Amino acid sequence: MTVNINKTISEIKHLSRKLPSVINLMEVCGTHTMSIGKNGIRQLLPENINLISGPGCPVCVTGINEIDQIIELSSLKDIVIFTFGDMLKVPGSKTTLFRQKATGSAIKMCYSPNESLKYAMDNPDKKVVFLAIGFETTAPLTAAVIKNAEKNNINNFYIYNLHKTVPSAVFFLLDKDKKLNLDAFICPGHVCAITGSRPFDFISDKFKKPAVITGFTPYDILESVLIILKQILSDNPETVIQYTLAVREEGNIFARNLINEVFENQSSYWRGIGIIEDSGLSLKSRYMSFNAKKVFNINTIDTKEPRYCDCGKILLGEKKPFDCRLFAGKCTPENPVGPCMVSSEGTCAAYYKYERLSKNDPGKR
Ligand code: SF4
Repeated sequence: MTVNINKTISEIKHLSRKLPSVINLMEVCGTHTMSIGKNGIRQLLPENINLISGPGCPVCVTGINEIDQIIELSSLKDIVIFTFGDMLKVPGSKTTLFRQKATGSAIKMCYSPNESLKYAMDNPDKKVVFLAIGFETTAPLTAAVIKNAEKNNINNFYIYNLHKTVPSAVFFLLDKDKKLNLDAFICPGHVCAITGSRPFDFISDKFKKPAVITGFTPYDILESVLIILKQILSDNPETVIQYTLAVREEGNIFARNLINEVFENQSSYWRGIGIIEDSGLSLKSRYMSFNAKKVFNINTIDTKEPRYCDCGKILLGEKKPFDCRLFAGKCTPENPVGPCMVSSEGTCAAYYKYERLSKNDPGKR
């Protein structure tokens, strides 16, 4: 397919002149936030189209108390923690997994949960815990590794489960948070590759807002903005798939079945937001012996957010990184204060890397 990005931008500019006021479009996914920053999309758009980042970075929405509990777990005898790299640098209330590793805890970075299961099989004297984090995109991998562990009778393998689901968080933002004035959603293409588009239909059906399931190239994002503008101007909100290369209405049935076999929905705590009903995945009772939180009986730890860190409001879309007094001063990717500056999908990290030079130009925010 040939794409004409200049034509798309011209059409957006033309249609934006017909808007009666500024419109707020939320990109729910951290990968979109990064792509928007990296490709200067905010600067390409007319000033009456405001892009707002949502809670779509799994590391960022993990509670600080969970980070503290994982750090405590890592100090127990014979425990070996496997995690994706982003989690290593997220500050808990006192330290990070990275610094904990330097004090002697066995913490290993991995790219797939299979690496942790293999380690458990090769080291039966160790208790191996995989930090299972992510949305519907990574949950099938965790489900597959648990089924594999069960099939092979591996009894020294566990997961510390942090999986969350995106549609419930979007529902929460629309249903409970009236302050944001969100006009439309750029929905996460990779999540929908698993879930399909149907779980997002409520955005247009119930809340009468456009929702476009979007790929990750600059053209994908701009085309979605154009689709949204057309829907707003014709007052015809729909949930549509722009990312037709990867997303079907019904999603990936094999991956969905894997999730449903191993997990069930439960309420979950989202950093900066609080408890959201049905927004987490908990292990079904059959798989409870793999649940590190239950097996190791980690104490609940009550911790406070870092002073002056606005991650909570940034995850809700109420503030932008430039509004945080620590941004690019006390808080940088080398020395992060909050999770939004650590993660490769974090909003503060994206603004720091790609957009901080436009800080003094409010029109480009
Ligand atoms: S800039 Fe740092 S301190 Fe401020 S909100 Fe972002 S992560 Fe938190």
